[in-house]
Amino acid sequence: MTKIYPQVGAHISAAGDLSLAPLRAKEANCECFQFFSRPPQGGPAKPLTEKIITDFKINCSKNNLASYIHSPYYINFASVENRIYYGSIKVIHEELERGSQLGVDALMIHLGSAKDLGDKEAIKKVILGLAEMLKGYTGSTQFLIEMSAGAGAIIGDTFEEIAQIINSPKLKKYDIGICFDTCHAFASGYDLRTEATVKATFKKFDQVLGLKKLKLIHANDSLTDLDSKKDRHAHIGQGKIGLDGFKAIVKLAKKLKINLILETPDGEDRIKDINILKAMRK
Ligand SMILES: [Zn+2]
Ligand SMILES: [Zn+2]
Repeated sequence: MTKIYPQVGAHISAAGDLSLAPLRAKEANCECFQFFSRPPQGGPAKPLTEKIITDFKINCSKNNLASYIHSPYYINFASVENRIYYGSIKVIHEELERGSQLGVDALMIHLGSAKDLGDKEAIKKVILGLAEMLKGYTGSTQFLIEMSAGAGAIIGDTFEEIAQIINSPKLKKYDIGICFDTCHAFASGYDLRTEATVKATFKKFDQVLGLKKLKLIHANDSLTDLDSKKDRHAHIGQGKIGLDGFKAIVKLAKKLKINLILETPDGEDRIKDINILKAMRK
C-alpha cells in the first residue's frame, strides 16, 4: 500500500499496556501516533515482555501505523544535579533501546534548561551528555531533538543552537534528526501564519540545519503570540498560527513526506484537528 503523506496522528495514552496504544490510535482515526513508554513524571519503566512487544508490533503493522516515543518530562542534559544529568543519559539510552525492540520509528526529547550554567557551558554539557547517551547505540529508533519554546533558559529554541549541538565534532557522526513543533517554533519567534512566512521559516531551517534533518512535525496551534516565549498549545485554527499557516505546513509536510502529530487536548476538538489536517493534504 502506498502511503499518503503527511500521515496525521496524535499523542495517545499507553496506560495499562503499551500494546493498547496503537489500538487507541486507530480508534481515534490516527494514521500514526506518539506515546510515553514510561511514566512521564518519573518512576521506572515497566519491563517489555515478549507478549507486549509482539502485540505492539502486530497492532501497529495491521493498522499501518508509524509510532513515536515522547521522552519523559524531567530530562535535562544541562542539569548540574548528577541525579538528573546521569538519569537523563540512562533513561534516553534505555528508551531508544526499548523503542528499537518495539519497532518505533523515532523518539524525541526536550534538551533541558541552561538556568544552572548559562548558555555556553550548558551547550557543552548537552553535547557531552548526548554523546555519552548515544555511545554504543545501534538500534533502529531514530533520536530526534525537539524544537522548544524559548521560555527562560530553555535549550533548543533556535535553529542555530540546535545546529551548534548536532554539528559538534562529538555528535556529527550520529544521524540526529529534528522534531519541529509548530507551537514552540512560533513562540520562539518563527512566523508560521501565512504561506509566505512558512516558506521563509523553512528556508531558514534549510540554510541552518538542512531540511534532511527534519523528521517529524508536532502540529499544534499556539494560544499565545509570535515570540511570546510561552508553550501553550491550541487546537488547529483556534490559535495565533491559524488555518492559512497550517495549510502551508501540511503542503510542506506532503512535499517532504513528513508526518504530523497533534499534541492538543484529547476530546471532540482533537477529532476536528485530525480531520482538518487530513482535509488540508488533498
Ligand atoms: Zn511537541
Ligand atoms: Zn509544547
